[in-house]
Amino acid sequence: MNIFCIGRNYGEHIKELNNQTPENPVVFCKPNSAALTDNKAFYYPDFSTDIHYEVEVLFKIARPGKRIQASQALDYISQIGLGIDFTARDLQSQCKSKGLPWEIAKAFDHSAVIGQWINIENTDLRNLNFSLQKNKQVVQQGNTKDMMFSIEQIIEYLSRFFKLNTGDILFTGTPAGVGPIAVGDLLEGFLECKQMFSCEIK
Ligand code: ZN
Repeated sequence: MNIFCIGRNYGEHIKELNNQTPENPVVFCKPNSAALTDNKAFYYPDFSTDIHYEVEVLFKIARPGKRIQASQALDYISQIGLGIDFTARDLQSQCKSKGLPWEIAKAFDHSAVIGQWINIENTDLRNLNFSLQKNKQVVQQGNTKDMMFSIEQIIEYLSRFFKLNTGDILFTGTPAGVGPIAVGDLLEGFLECKQMFSCEIK
């Protein structure tokens, strides 16, 4: 199972981090060991003092494909989910300032919270509300209509470079409102009104 992530896919989040708007999707990967499933707790790692939450809509790949056209892309996804792309913002800033890859800041163990999955039936994927609550307060709210690159465009772009396999997971970028976590926090993600995950920080 591969985890592919898209960065900088919501305009308001690009502004809050003072990043440039990309011409193509910004792609990075997380290894299997990054997955944190089944509402397990996240243990604050010792290599960072500034871990941020980024709530993101997820899609699961339903069948293998390479060089998929955007017009066919929806045939390649079966399920939608919600997760968190935990980011060590302090390490990421160091990597960015040196022009180095982000992996230590983005792909570390348990950095990919993956909630439950819902089958895509007649779901309008371009108008889904999602949110993250921290300690029962809403800290991030988004709608998939604000994605700069749609899921179809993301699949077309990714599959130019990577063969997509059944079970691969796509993280599609975070809206504005990212912020730090602390030991003792409770993070809960919602897709429309449905709770998709909860994650305690230990
Ligand atoms: Zn992200």
